[in-house]
Amino acid sequence: MRVANLAGRAVLLTDDGAIDIEKASGGRFPADPQALFERWNELRSWSTDAEPVPYAEAELEAPTPAPRQVFAIGVNYRDHAEESQIEPGARPPVFTKFLSCLTGQDAVVALPQGGLTDWEVELVVVIGRRAHRVAAAEAWHHVAGLTVGQDLSERITQLSPPQPHQFSLGKSFPGFGPMGPWLVTPDELADPDDLEISCHLDGERMQHARTSQMIFPVPELIEKLSAVTPLLPGDVIFTGTPGGIGGTRTPARFLAPGEHLHSTIEGIGTLRTTFTGA
Ligand code: ZN
Repeated sequence: MRVANLAGRAVLLTDDGAIDIEKASGGRFPADPQALFERWNELRSWSTDAEPVPYAEAELEAPTPAPRQVFAIGVNYRDHAEESQIEPGARPPVFTKFLSCLTGQDAVVALPQGGLTDWEVELVVVIGRRAHRVAAAEAWHHVAGLTVGQDLSERITQLSPPQPHQFSLGKSFPGFGPMGPWLVTPDELADPDDLEISCHLDGERMQHARTSQMIFPVPELIEKLSAVTPLLPGDVIFTGTPGGIGGTRTPARFLAPGEHLHSTIEGIGTLRTTFTGA
């Protein structure tokens, strides 16, 4: 099942187009894409004969426009830990991206003036069932679906004092949390723990890995986060980026106005983001 947020309404996507979930269900399910996660188990067993209609991808907004919690994980791939000169520990670093930075497909993001903005392609997990003290073995049962995300990061703000840096702030400028284009349920994927992930800047490949290379795979992240904090339906986890960011290259490279970033995950799709000057 592929579910999306089409201009603020929850839709089911097929190869032929979009089906409005509220209309096709006769009002059984809400139109609000965020409220839909409260009914996720029910939605999974629902089907419809409604006729899909064509749509424009540019109208796809963040699949979860207003989650109650956004978790983001740092240094979750060894090559990214090495390029960042950080020794991975027994627990992953956790921060947030503030809600106002979330956006969807074909977003145009203004680069903060005087900043150095970097890319970070990431697998994004959306919670479908409340998860509190959930063991890794049970974790996938609490996932609504997966989507593609960019943990855009302005490195000057991010790495400013005081210690331990301003990760959440530096990664939350407007538009710095694009995700999409849609949500794919885990059953659609041959192995949701092993997906090819990459990002291209104006056609040049910058990052390329498999999600099976995560230091803390999705089930372990859910176990560790939910040991402390209940994860709620519609909550979002940015699961960390593989190696190949711009800031640790020689010479360093950052996003420039007019550039196009394409972020792709196998079995999900491609998230497109464009940059402008401030
Ligand atoms: Zn990140």
